[in-house]
Amino acid sequence: MPELPEVETVRRGLNQLIKGAKISDINIRYDKIIVGSTTDFKQQLIGATIVEVSRRAKYLLFHFDNNLTMISHLRMEGKYQVRDSQSEFDKHVHVIFCLEDGRFLGYRDVRKFGKMQLVDRSTEMQVKSIAALGPEPLTPQYTLASLQQGLQKKKKSIKATLLDQHVVSGLGNIYVDEVLWRAKIHPEEPANKVTTAQITDLYPIINDEIKTAIAAGGTTIRSYVDATGHQGNFQLQLNVYKQEGNPCSRCGTPIEKIKVAGRGTHFCPHCQVLNQ
Ligand SMILES: [Zn+2]
Repeated sequence: MPELPEVETVRRGLNQLIKGAKISDINIRYDKIIVGSTTDFKQQLIGATIVEVSRRAKYLLFHFDNNLTMISHLRMEGKYQVRDSQSEFDKHVHVIFCLEDGRFLGYRDVRKFGKMQLVDRSTEMQVKSIAALGPEPLTPQYTLASLQQGLQKKKKSIKATLLDQHVVSGLGNIYVDEVLWRAKIHPEEPANKVTTAQITDLYPIINDEIKTAIAAGGTTIRSYVDATGHQGNFQLQLNVYKQEGNPCSRCGTPIEKIKVAGRGTHFCPHCQVLNQ
């Protein structure tokens, strides 16, 4: 699943490739990717120019010169490809934006879980899924106090809390496992039982993890490739994710894999123990 650093890498790639491009036609092969009427979607975007692609957590926001924003959520497997010919797209490319300069922007999604929604730019932050997102790492809104206050209110596990995007947004399964290992917090620890000292450790680690991952261009777990076709190279730096059986780089204890919040969860049973 693409996480914040991967989506950020895709955003940067898209801005390099398609900023300023004008949509001349849209070919929708699978209607359910589009939220609402596909006819309206096409009518409103054909003739529009992509001004910029921005991001909020794991959502890409395509801004057009007609004050519309296309909110694109990649979900499990979505990705964008830019090609010179439509025939270069395989059967998993479900939406194709034909660009006036002769190129094509394809949205590929094997599992078809991704969504595209067109809204007025002035209302983009009020769209339910985006409005519910917590502060994002590396922004002024994400503070030690916001993290502390958010965690105090949650009785579920710290892993589930960090995954649900309300306290802090942008962390998915890989980075939650990594930051909890670095901060020595057991993934099943109830969020409101995480100590002040642990939260104080965790706060900058979340920023650092995201910053490092963005700098490295995201991870290559599963099928992630950025818009320019480059693979990220962050997997070399993973300490616990998919490392079950390997020795913890801090203490040598084999990393274990358990299920928390319905997700495969990797941790060191020696470094990460439950409080109390
Ligand atoms: Zn350890």
